[in-house]
Amino acid sequence: MHYELSAEFASGQDSADPLRSCRERFHFPDLGTEHLVYLTGHSLGLQPRSVRAAVELELDEWARYGVEGHFHATHPWYSYHELLTPPMAALVGARESEVVCMNSLTTNLHLLFVSFYRPTQQRYKIISEARMFPSDRYLLETQAQFHGFAPDDAIIEIAPRDGERVIRHEDILAAVEEHADELALVFFGGVNYFTGQVFDMPALTEAAHAVGAVAGFDLAHAAGNIPLSLHDWDVDFAAWCSYKYLNASPGNVGGIFVHERHGRNFELPRFGGWWGHDKSTRFQMRNGFQPMEGAEGWQLSNVPILGMAAMKASLDVFAEVGMPALRAKSEQLTGYLEFAIDRLAEEFPDARISMITPRDPAQRGCQLSMDVAGRERSLFDSMIGAGVIADFREPCIIRMAPVPLYNSFTDVFVFTEVMRDLLAQRDAT
Ligand SMILES: *Cc1c(COP(=O)(O)O)cnc(C)c1O
Repeated sequence: MHYELSAEFASGQDSADPLRSCRERFHFPDLGTEHLVYLTGHSLGLQPRSVRAAVELELDEWARYGVEGHFHATHPWYSYHELLTPPMAALVGARESEVVCMNSLTTNLHLLFVSFYRPTQQRYKIISEARMFPSDRYLLETQAQFHGFAPDDAIIEIAPRDGERVIRHEDILAAVEEHADELALVFFGGVNYFTGQVFDMPALTEAAHAVGAVAGFDLAHAAGNIPLSLHDWDVDFAAWCSYKYLNASPGNVGGIFVHERHGRNFELPRFGGWWGHDKSTRFQMRNGFQPMEGAEGWQLSNVPILGMAAMKASLDVFAEVGMPALRAKSEQLTGYLEFAIDRLAEEFPDARISMITPRDPAQRGCQLSMDVAGRERSLFDSMIGAGVIADFREPCIIRMAPVPLYNSFTDVFVFTEVMRDLLAQRDAT
């Protein structure tokens, strides 16, 4: 695509954008700055305007019905989670029986590891990415320890080669081959939280299965960002959160995927709770846990309705717009931000701006991470002061995500103008 850095070009792209009206469906923060460019949907998605009414409805019905709301509310609470399954399953490319919304992400991964990390003395190793999100790393360490293995022995981290920023798939596949006989699990992020690199989930799954291991993914940065086909890729299990690209409110309930061939396997060890028990006998309150078929059989508890209401309102937007349209815009918009960053890098060579995220659109979602080695953290603080909301990771990495649902080409243009000012100020001093 051809790009130009001008206000006219950006507003022309915005007028031609079939998703341009989606922006109005979200609240943008007001931090009292002249501009407000929100580029942090990878960390916390913005609030859909429809959320407030959806939550208020549940508050009203709780006030009005009390316990009777379980069956008499507009959306009865007893089965509320079932309303979220179709849009969530569509987002991750799963059958409805393979997905359920419950708990939070790290909790869900531990629960899934109960079923899918079943190490033996011979086969106990986990291959994963170096520099994982800390919670995932702690998950792996404590799971290994729980089963009596030393984390440094059990966890094989694949890192970028010296002088490179992202991990080569051939290196992951070679490690799977090398450890074929001792490998229990291949566990990666779908999109690396730091670099924005997308991992080849179908290839990693196939490689894991070929050596008799299981493949699982943390999709925190993938759900609602890139197209996913978990069922067809034959992924064993996955989990994700709903407050990043899915805009469901801070800390809201996450989602899990369990492939249907495991969902029907009642022999799999798992931790039980009443909400995962066979619906038809749940209220007989008898001893003897009988899991439901499918992902629902991993539920423990009845669901937090206020959070679920916010999530439903948000997923309704995704269901209306659809991932194909989002992805089409995402590639163009992220390409525009990449173009802008490259121009800034040329204009301010002393800032030593370089892109960490892969250049190939197929290997990234909407997040771009840039290294600004020639500048201190104060550059980032000035960005926030000027109303460009991105995020900062040590030592000098700025992560930005132009989210196709609510960001515009004009946002990218304003970002560039603000950055140019900030970078030039430093040049003047
Ligand atoms: C955001 C994120 C988490 C957060 O986990 P919570 O349990 O929701 O706090 C975990 N893993 C990854 C990869 C993330 O990006």
